[in-house]
Amino acid sequence: MRIARILFPMPLPEPFDYVIPEGMEIETGSYVRAPLGKHERTGVVWDIIEDNSERELKSISEVFPAPPMPEAMRRFVTFCARYNVAGPGQILGMALRARGGLSPSPVQTVYTLTGDQPQRMTPAREKVLATTQDIGPDTASNLAHAAGVSASVVKGLAETGCFEAKQVPTDLPYPSPDPQRTGPDLTAEQAAAGARLRQAVQAGGFKPFLLDGITGSGKTEVYFEAIAEALASDPSAQVLVLLPEIALTQAVLERFESRFGAGPAPWHSSLSDIQRRRTWREVAHGRARIVTGARSALFLPFRNLKLVIVDEEHDGSFKQEDGVRYHARDMAVMRAKLEEAAIILASATPALETVVNAESGRYERLKLSARPGAARLPDIDLVDMRANPPEKGNWLSPVLSKSLVDTLAAGEQSLLFMNRRGYAPLVICKACGERLKSPGSESWLTEHRYTNRLVCHLTGWSMPKPDKCPLCGAKDSLMGVGPGVERVAEEVRQLLPEARVEIFSSDTAQGGEATRSIVERMAGGEIDVLVGTQIVAKGHNFPNLTLVGVVDADSGMTGGDLRAGERTYQLLSQVAGRAGRAERPGRALVQTYQPENPAMMALATGDRDGFLQIERDVRAELGLPPFGRMAALILSAPDASMAKEIGQLAGKAAPHGDGVTVYGPAPAPISMVRGRHRLRFLITSPRDVDLSAYMAKWLSGLKLPSAARVSADIDPYSFL
Ligand code: ADP
Repeated sequence: MRIARILFPMPLPEPFDYVIPEGMEIETGSYVRAPLGKHERTGVVWDIIEDNSERELKSISEVFPAPPMPEAMRRFVTFCARYNVAGPGQILGMALRARGGLSPSPVQTVYTLTGDQPQRMTPAREKVLATTQDIGPDTASNLAHAAGVSASVVKGLAETGCFEAKQVPTDLPYPSPDPQRTGPDLTAEQAAAGARLRQAVQAGGFKPFLLDGITGSGKTEVYFEAIAEALASDPSAQVLVLLPEIALTQAVLERFESRFGAGPAPWHSSLSDIQRRRTWREVAHGRARIVTGARSALFLPFRNLKLVIVDEEHDGSFKQEDGVRYHARDMAVMRAKLEEAAIILASATPALETVVNAESGRYERLKLSARPGAARLPDIDLVDMRANPPEKGNWLSPVLSKSLVDTLAAGEQSLLFMNRRGYAPLVICKACGERLKSPGSESWLTEHRYTNRLVCHLTGWSMPKPDKCPLCGAKDSLMGVGPGVERVAEEVRQLLPEARVEIFSSDTAQGGEATRSIVERMAGGEIDVLVGTQIVAKGHNFPNLTLVGVVDADSGMTGGDLRAGERTYQLLSQVAGRAGRAERPGRALVQTYQPENPAMMALATGDRDGFLQIERDVRAELGLPPFGRMAALILSAPDASMAKEIGQLAGKAAPHGDGVTVYGPAPAPISMVRGRHRLRFLITSPRDVDLSAYMAKWLSGLKLPSAARVSADIDPYSFL
């Protein structure tokens, strides 16, 4: 008897066995439906075995008409599960996010004009016929909507023979990119890097690169060369480009379109179900040639993945912090290895981990050290806030204020960077001193004047701003403390009453349309001063922007996070790099209370490599990543006493591991979220220890009350 072992996208320990019914065409990787408990479930055939033991087994009910999951992908699922200490079914869940893609596209009825005229013409009919002339064949509801009539008018016209009804698929294939189109004439340095990438892609096989180039040096143009080569040298080759979610803007997609004559297949969190199943299906069938996506695009079922690009590889958003915790950049390298593909990690400020890999020769480094043409990097000056304090109640130093005035007078644009949404990051009661928190969470509420609400940025909870202190009842006693973008914008409006000032944050730019509108107005010179959070840091090109002001450079340095300095450096150099992109020279002013901090000094002197060397020495000395391994175990419970109890249980259950040190349990820095009390263990080891295996052993030996939750985090980036 042939038995299929089916992995289901659920947190189950292993695949389950099913009989393959006579005549059903099943192979390893087939997507099937089979009964599990009371329901029919979708799963993947993980293995096929011969078994004559006459066990009582259920049968597979249905096989989907989709190409089976390729072996490299199945191995990737297994690898990810093991490395990140998750169940393979949980990883499979991420690979099956668009079940609709397993079946062929649904069809819809589309109406095409036949050229006949109806015997009886009405104004409504006339409108529909004219609209269809304009917009072409479409569904009855779309045509009716466009003509402003009801769908029955379209159907009526079809009965009279004026329309022909045709069944066509709803989800169309993506247009094919054309690799023969050319980009701009590359500079000598760009051409050399491009040629090396083309050569590696042509040769085939796993090959990791670090494309290390300053902001605006043309990294995108250079990796387009590699994409063109992959598409041209293999007619079925597929390319995956991972971008930080925030960078998946229309502007980036348009660059792909103008270079290859067709936009890429998109994959990110704001796609509709229909767009999602369309991309998934086209990838699985090998028809989508270029996919641009956020981190979860890594789990798409490519058939012939030849090239992976991780743009802005240092970006924190590649680390997934909820559900299965994984780092998409690191997993992308593994995926490329299993697929025998080339991979390019691109950044102006690569992560220390990546730099160390390049220095040890594991990755080949390609450098771009200049901007093409006349464009040059902005001058970055530190503003020592101790020597240049702002006026009381203000946040802009006299130096920065004067530069804003001068820039406006010169008819140029400014960008102020303040990485805090809202008006004030903290609300306190002047009467009782209480700091307002969201209910059941130890996280402070932020005042938003734009919406007049108090918002918890951790959980999303919000309430209208009360006129009394919820604790002591004092009237009009609540006061916002510290600056957010809204307060900085207020100060700019006072300083420059005639200037057009706008805020750019996830609150003012909800959705692609709003974001595009702000970016377009800024690029078109309709905004004089843009005040933004980190949303402004990515990829935008504003030709008339000559001044960047960083309002509070120190805000990311607190919290004892091992990467705080590195991240601050990355973010601020990216922000500063927005100035002077085109022919105009730019300037960046960075307000700081710690100008002697190595990250600040590196910004001012442009000595990135010197800074990385210091970071590297410190981490090597302390055995921190990438010179040692690190993991976290995160526990939570609905009350404080259970939290204490499970902390002790987990501590006792920690297995012995050579070289492994376990710290904790300690309350998490935000010790309560949504009513759950949180604890953390931190685990360190030398590089040669398999910390994933250690964590798996720990978790498997852990018996906790059912209300407790536990998860492992390999290579933690967030310590909250
Ligand atoms: P990066 O990805 O390194 O920030 P981009 O590839 O986005 O750099 O390039 C920055 C800008 O310079 C883009 O508008 C790009 O089209 C332009 N550019 C890059 N290289 C050239 C070149 N050789 N000739 C003309 N324009 C170029």
